Amino acid sequence: MEENKKLEPEKAGKEEGTPVSRHFIEQFIDKDLADGVYSHVQTRFPPEPNGYLHIGHAKSILLNYGMAQEYGGKFNLRFDDTNPTKEKTEFVESIKEDVAWLGADWEDRLFFASNYFQQMYECAVLLIKKGKAFVCDLTAEEIRETRGTLTEPGTNSPYRDRSVEENLQLFENMKNGMYADGEKVLRAKIDMASPNINMRDPIIYRVAHMTHHNTGDAWCIYPMYDFAHPIEDAIEHITHSLCTLEFEDHRPLYDWVVRECEFEEPPRQIEFAKLYLKNVVTGKRYIKKLVENGIVDGWDDPRLVSISGLRRRGYTPESIKMFVELSGISKAQSTAEMPLLEYCVREDLKTKARRMMAVLDPVKLVIDNYPEGQTEMLDVPNNTENEELGSRQVPFGRELYIEREDFMEVPPKKYFRLFPGNEVRLMNAYFVTCTGLEKDEDGNVTVIHCSYDPASRGGNSPDGRKVKGTIHWVAAETAKQVTVRLYENIIDEEKGMFAEDGSLNLNPKSLVEVQGFVEPALGNAEAGDRFQFVRNGYFCADIKDSVPGQPVFNRIVGLKSSFKLP
Ligand code: ATP
Ligand code: MG
Repeated sequence: MEENKKLEPEKAGKEEGTPVSRHFIEQFIDKDLADGVYSHVQTRFPPEPNGYLHIGHAKSILLNYGMAQEYGGKFNLRFDDTNPTKEKTEFVESIKEDVAWLGADWEDRLFFASNYFQQMYECAVLLIKKGKAFVCDLTAEEIRETRGTLTEPGTNSPYRDRSVEENLQLFENMKNGMYADGEKVLRAKIDMASPNINMRDPIIYRVAHMTHHNTGDAWCIYPMYDFAHPIEDAIEHITHSLCTLEFEDHRPLYDWVVRECEFEEPPRQIEFAKLYLKNVVTGKRYIKKLVENGIVDGWDDPRLVSISGLRRRGYTPESIKMFVELSGISKAQSTAEMPLLEYCVREDLKTKARRMMAVLDPVKLVIDNYPEGQTEMLDVPNNTENEELGSRQVPFGRELYIEREDFMEVPPKKYFRLFPGNEVRLMNAYFVTCTGLEKDEDGNVTVIHCSYDPASRGGNSPDGRKVKGTIHWVAAETAKQVTVRLYENIIDEEKGMFAEDGSLNLNPKSLVEVQGFVEPALGNAEAGDRFQFVRNGYFCADIKDSVPGQPVFNRIVGLKSSFKLP
């Protein structure tokens, strides 16, 4: 949890008189505290362990954790594992790893909703005793048919007026496994004429003869989400239960459950808009297909916006936090753009990452007037915008690699890089002038010849003469050859997300693998290390495929941005 320290709580707006605009959830909490509704703040992140977390979940995690931090409260991680069909233990571990990586510290408050089954059962019994719940024999279809519509009320179940005693007995029979799946359900007795369909005697318990990953075969009745969730929150003394907008219509039921189950200081639900990213796949269904069809390398493929994919790509927790903050907390549905996330990671790495030289599409350059067999070490600052990162020694020699696109035999106008007769600066090294070139039979340039000016060491002009181009390079003799993965969106942005048949429009160039040459210091990069490759972008040594002495680099993001902060 080392990352925690960097994710210090935002104290903005807490000091009196600071005119910082507060989002609607902060305003709710401020008011609740001022009115004495609650004396503390406690939030939770309640994932269902049925898949990997994605950038949308990061919004929920950071919002919930952020509110607890801001108000000196507590944050719980709770697995919402009340549904025995879907949950998988594998996901529990990946979710814990992702939440911790984002810096959201649940301390000793890791909970499983399935541990509350007994209390939920007791709540149901209490409702029956109060005449607020009944066992219903209607089939699922009959329940649907009698529920009514948006414009018409529903009709009461013929089993609605069973006595408390009969209901208690039948519910106990349900619990004891005397009925088949679907034979009987427990329903809340609320109002079949309510304008809110969720309040029309909703099902709160069902029979399901299934083995649960945590409770095994202890239970054959399971609570429905709308009943279970408010109880989970209440048991944990959650004050503000933050959830996404689709639960807005369920809030009256949430309030009904905590009230009728007679919890003290009942939690309150507040809904916010989900985070959507344009032209980005987040749906579990689609990602599953991409994984199964071998189009991506698992749920942590660096092209996915799963949190594990973003981590592997090289995104930092700080950049994701900045992104979530900039995209804002509101009730209005909106779509964020990938370039905003890319902007955030560039901003974060700008002064954090060392700037090194890597040539991704190499061509040989020979300095004919440089002594043969000589290697000299140049002292190069690691980050010109952050002196604290110090400097390193970079070897220079007679033979170098430069980027193929930094040379043109016949340059167009305004091409300031290398071409016959032109002088450029080799970054941090010397001025060189192109004196000639060699080609293969097909006309491809194989070697570029130059002469250098020894007086320009360090890349400084010896006599005030100017060069317009500065290019990067790697000394051939000491260069390390590495695999570099150049990523783009897995979706073909020009075509949009979906084809007419509902399948995804995939970008065939979403992963291009090249063999590049890097300076020796990069050859020793450790898995997870992040760098700027000058003029090429930000890169991260892959955490899965790098081995000591042979890193594989993922491009996190290029250097240029189409994004402008408004
Ligand atoms: P499912 O479709 O399986 O329910 P889910 O993405 O809603 O998937 P949950 O485990 O239920 O997964 O989500 C945990 C929490 O994350 C919930 O509180 C949910 O509201 C929130 N959440 C999910 N998607 C987003 C999103 N795109 N933006 C913000 N919050 C989200
Ligand atoms: Mg959900």
